[in-house]
Amino acid sequence: MESKPDFKTIMPDGLVPVTDIDLRALSEIYDERDVYLSVYMKSSSAAELDASRSFIASRFKAMDKSLPADDLRQPFRSTLSLVEESVASLPWKGERSRVIFACGPLSFLHVYRLGLEIEPLVVLDSSPFLLPLARLRDDYEDYGLLLLDSQEARLFTIRSRLLEEKIQSSIDLMNKHKKGGWSQMRFNRLRKGAIKSFLGEVMEDLLRLEGLQDMRGLVIAGPGEAKIEIMEMLPPQIKEKVLGLMDASMGTSLADLVEMGDRLALEKERAYGRERAAELRSAVLRGQLYASGADKVRDALQQGRVKALLLLDGFVIPGWICESCQHFQEGSQPESCPRCNGRTSRVNLLEELYELAQRTGAEVEFVEEDDFLRSLGGVGAILRY
Ligand SMILES: [Zn+2]
Repeated sequence: MESKPDFKTIMPDGLVPVTDIDLRALSEIYDERDVYLSVYMKSSSAAELDASRSFIASRFKAMDKSLPADDLRQPFRSTLSLVEESVASLPWKGERSRVIFACGPLSFLHVYRLGLEIEPLVVLDSSPFLLPLARLRDDYEDYGLLLLDSQEARLFTIRSRLLEEKIQSSIDLMNKHKKGGWSQMRFNRLRKGAIKSFLGEVMEDLLRLEGLQDMRGLVIAGPGEAKIEIMEMLPPQIKEKVLGLMDASMGTSLADLVEMGDRLALEKERAYGRERAAELRSAVLRGQLYASGADKVRDALQQGRVKALLLLDGFVIPGWICESCQHFQEGSQPESCPRCNGRTSRVNLLEELYELAQRTGAEVEFVEEDDFLRSLGGVGAILRY
C-alpha cells in the first residue's frame, strides 16, 4: 500500500524558492508506519541555529521515548542520523529557515534552505508534513517587478524573497538629442518621441519575460510618470497581471524593493483569498455547488469535483486516518479502521485535505481569519459541478 518517493535525495546547492519545491510529488508519499520526519527550523544566524538545534534535540528525545515499539524506534534512530548533518550545518548567505523531510529506512532526504521565515516544528508521521510549506507557497508566489523612469528600466523576478535581475536598459536622452542648437520646442518633441520608443522597447522586454503568465503578477515601480505611461501602453494580457504601481526612486536598494513588492503582492493574495471566501459564501446562500465540513469536502475532492478548496489558516480539525487504506474522517479515533481493520492515527484533517487536493489537482486557498469559513468548520469547497 505504501507509495515510495521517486526522488530519494534532494539537496539543492542554493536557496530555494518555495515554488520550486514539488509539493505535489511530496503529497503522494506515504507509508503504513510513522516513518517520515518533517523538520521546520529557523536558521538565519549561528545563534538562531543553536536555539533551533536544542529545540529539535528535545523534540527528538521526546519522540524517541514515546515510540511504542522497537520496530519503530530503530527506523526513527536511523532517520535521526540521516538528518544530523543537515540540522547542524551552518546557515548560508540569505538563509532564514530550513525544511527537512527524511526517512532513514528508505534513505529518503530532502533539505530545502529558504529565504523565508517559518515557525519551528518537528513532526513524525506516515507522510511528509506539508501544511506550513503549503501556507508559504500560497503567500509567496513568484512575481515580476519593473523599476523605471523615462530613461532607465530594470526588470526583476522575485521568487520567495530571492531577487533576480533579468534585463536592464537605458537611453541617454541628453547626449542623443540635445545637439545642433535646436529650439526648446523641437527638443521637447524629440525627447517625447525618444521616451515613447524607449518605453516601447521596455514593453517588448516585458512580453519576453519568461513565465510571467504563470506568476502572481507584475509590480511597476518608479519615481515619476513613466510607470503610468507604460501601464497605458500594455496589451490586455499583461495589464491584467499588474498587481499595482509603486512610488520608488531609481536608487532604491534591492532589499527595499523586495520589501515593498512583497507587501503589495501579499495584499493582493489576501484580497484574492477574501474574494474566494465571498464566492463560497454566495454558493452556500444559493444552496448549490459547494461542500462544507471535512468529510463532505473529502468526498468531493475524491470525485474530482472541487474547483477551489478553502482552508482557514491555522485551524485544526481533529480527525483520524487509517495508516493502511489512507481513509480519513472527522471525529474521534476508532480502535481500528472500520473499512479495512488497519491501524489508525490522529491527524489534523487540514493536512490530509490539503494533500488530497494536491493529488487531485484542485486549487487550494488559505484564508486569513474569516467568521463564515470558521462557522462552516474551517473548511469549504467551491465545486465545479
Ligand atoms: Zn483502512
